[in-house]
Amino acid sequence: MNIILFGPPGAGKGTQAKFLVKILNNFQVSTGDMLRDEIKKDTEIGKRIISFMNEGKFVNDEIVDSLMKKVVFDSTKKGKLIFDGYPRTIDQAKNLDLLLSETEQQIDFIFFLNVNKETIIKRIEKRKTEEKRSDDDLDIILKRYDTYLKTTSPVLEYYSSKQNFYKLDGNQEIDQINKQIKAFLKL
Ligand code: AMP
Repeated sequence: MNIILFGPPGAGKGTQAKFLVKILNNFQVSTGDMLRDEIKKDTEIGKRIISFMNEGKFVNDEIVDSLMKKVVFDSTKKGKLIFDGYPRTIDQAKNLDLLLSETEQQIDFIFFLNVNKETIIKRIEKRKTEEKRSDDDLDIILKRYDTYLKTTSPVLEYYSSKQNFYKLDGNQEIDQINKQIKAFLKL
């Protein structure tokens, strides 16, 4: 089962992705984690993207699309993908459609975690103390939220008319959201 988790930064995509990995035995596909890993390993890509990441700007499509291609074409992960943080632009959504059709896969569920700005700020400030991410400062959070509204919300329109699109209240407690997701998956 391939699933997209969609929503603004701080919506809980990573948390729900980890939950789905556990109950479905699937793989979390987090472009944010992959990009942070490139920076940690100080690769060529890492050197190119570090300033974008730290300023809360998007990394260019060419880089994220190439990372995505490797994952979608990995036959050991076929039909077991939990997308967390990708796609974030309409071009990325179209690229994902293409990669999936080339590998004869589909998206089975799209879960939109809808959260308000106050919840996002509260959650990211808490995460800052726990994970020490360099892009979790308040001014950068607000910038990332702004980018989400401008660039990523059109992706919501792209998916919201699909039959397998489900909107959830992401302001709820984690357990509540877990339960609702399980119910939609009929687990
Ligand atoms: P995340 O861990 O999903 O919150 O992503 C952290 C940062 O990684 C974002 O603010 C972007 O700089 C970059 N990033 C992650 N996913 C993408 C993507 N699909 N497209 C462009 N940049 C991304």
